[in-house]
Amino acid sequence: MKLILPADVVGRLRKELRTAGDREIGGVLVGEHLHDATFRLADLSVQRSGGSVVHFVRDVEQNSTFLKVFFARTGNDYQRFNYLGEWHSHPRFNALPSGQDLRTMQDIVESPDVGAHFAVLLIVSLRRSGVLELSAVAFRPGTSPENVDVVMEDETMKAGKGWLQRVIDLFRSRRF
Ligand SMILES: [Zn+2]
Repeated sequence: MKLILPADVVGRLRKELRTAGDREIGGVLVGEHLHDATFRLADLSVQRSGGSVVHFVRDVEQNSTFLKVFFARTGNDYQRFNYLGEWHSHPRFNALPSGQDLRTMQDIVESPDVGAHFAVLLIVSLRRSGVLELSAVAFRPGTSPENVDVVMEDETMKAGKGWLQRVIDLFRSRRF
């Protein structure tokens, strides 16, 4: 599975992570199904309360309001625009899911109330250096989680990477 992150959503995410500092924040992900197993992140909700340094508690009501608004905005076209999963930050740790994170996500996909065929967990961590670390894992009922390839759209140019990195990217893109 492949997940494309648009630059504007990544920019917003960075801003929220800077503001939150050491507190964990998170929310739900909504996506657009492009083709086969490729999705683009359309939007994410940001729940600013309920998180501590090491723990994040999902606010179910806040999430469902966000989803309702998103579905209305996209004309209830669930085939194309739908719930994609969950995200939260690890301000002090690597952007890798904990054992508890894995169990929580498996419960979500196996819960009949959610009725999702799959759900992605995106973990993000903004390092002091400004590097945005992230990882994404996809969950399905009855099987073990699988890794998701994350592709950032235009992030290198818009996030103000150093000039040296930009030159390296440019060379790579031209296949010198
Ligand atoms: Zn976590």
